[in-house]
Amino acid sequence: MVGAAKVDLDCRRDNALSRFYVDDRSVVASSAVKLDRRYRAWAEWSSKVGLEENHLKAYAIAKGARRRQELVDVLADRAKLEVELLGVSTMSHKRVHSEKEVQRAEACLRTIRLLSFVRLPFARYLNAVRAYAISKVAYGWIARWPTLQLSKRIWAAVNVGFRRMRSAAPWLRAALFGGSMHPDVLFASRLVGCFARARLKRVLAWIPVSGSPSHALDTWLRRRGWTRDRHWVWRHLLTGESINLSHRRVVPGRLQHAVRNAWRAWCLLQHAATNRRDVDHVDCFVGGRLRVGYFRRIDWESTRKWACSCPQARTICCGAAWSPASLGGRVAHRPSLACIWDGCDELGTFDHIAWTCPHRPDVHTLPARPTLAMSARWGWVVKGTGTDYGALHRWLETVQSRLWAVFHQ
Ligand SMILES: [Zn+2]
Repeated sequence: MVGAAKVDLDCRRDNALSRFYVDDRSVVASSAVKLDRRYRAWAEWSSKVGLEENHLKAYAIAKGARRRQELVDVLADRAKLEVELLGVSTMSHKRVHSEKEVQRAEACLRTIRLLSFVRLPFARYLNAVRAYAISKVAYGWIARWPTLQLSKRIWAAVNVGFRRMRSAAPWLRAALFGGSMHPDVLFASRLVGCFARARLKRVLAWIPVSGSPSHALDTWLRRRGWTRDRHWVWRHLLTGESINLSHRRVVPGRLQHAVRNAWRAWCLLQHAATNRRDVDHVDCFVGGRLRVGYFRRIDWESTRKWACSCPQARTICCGAAWSPASLGGRVAHRPSLACIWDGCDELGTFDHIAWTCPHRPDVHTLPARPTLAMSARWGWVVKGTGTDYGALHRWLETVQSRLWAVFHQ
């Protein structure tokens, strides 16, 4: 049908590249004159075959000050600094977010605020945030990702609905609950999924220039601790994860899992780099073959399940528990730094009150202190340790209840 109307196709020599997206199309050319020529040829052809096109929606953008000026000279009424195509913003100048992206982020934050007023049970609150709020901001990122500042702002807003956990460590929360809803990792896991599904159909073209999806994914991965072996092949040394999009038999879900898992490790490193009181407990990368320590044996599912079971569990496993020693006498009616158990006047550090105090109730029946610091401090479940996590969790919940009784009486 394309040949039904003969138009001046001199522009073929221009090597302009046309692409179609349902009823939108884009043209890429090396100069404004060539772009204009191709645009006019299309307009002539489409009017001859009777297509009704809205030329007011035709935009042109260029990269670099010189080309932008050239564009203004040739296509003054169409030259823009940013355009949107199928919900994806692209821009030719340095700007953090487009107006559309800011609007989506604000809509997401507004929905999170509304959901936090509803007082849903914890697990349902998370599901609702994912379905109704994060979904507003999660799409439209192909060759750029939301700034870390915006992702952190949204994640902090999610925390408001966690209520009791105002002092939870953001990066521990992100590692535990953010894999499927933190805007930062959603960008990469979705993009890897798109590439993997495309790879099942054809060989992927590696485009190393800024502004291309492959460049964006590569940059994001390398900033999150991955190293690139060759085009489409990355390794994450700390966790032993790998992504190979050069292979014909990719499994999209598995690659997305690798992205999320390595991102969790990155979150733990972010936590370890803060000055919070419990940073020494990130010991899961120490020792072991491949230097991965026990990170890969962390049972995220079971830990999340425990976290969802009660507020005490959430408080402990997200690093929101405060011992008398860490509060440093800041609670007016209980300025003492001493242990919380009756008859003990030792310094009340978390380790002392949970694991070493001889005045703990029924001390002989209590579980022993786990050797892994993340289990001892946050109750995180690690496979293959032989620890009775049921007993461990019951005890840590008792400790947290006692802390609340002492400080909120
Ligand atoms: Zn004590």
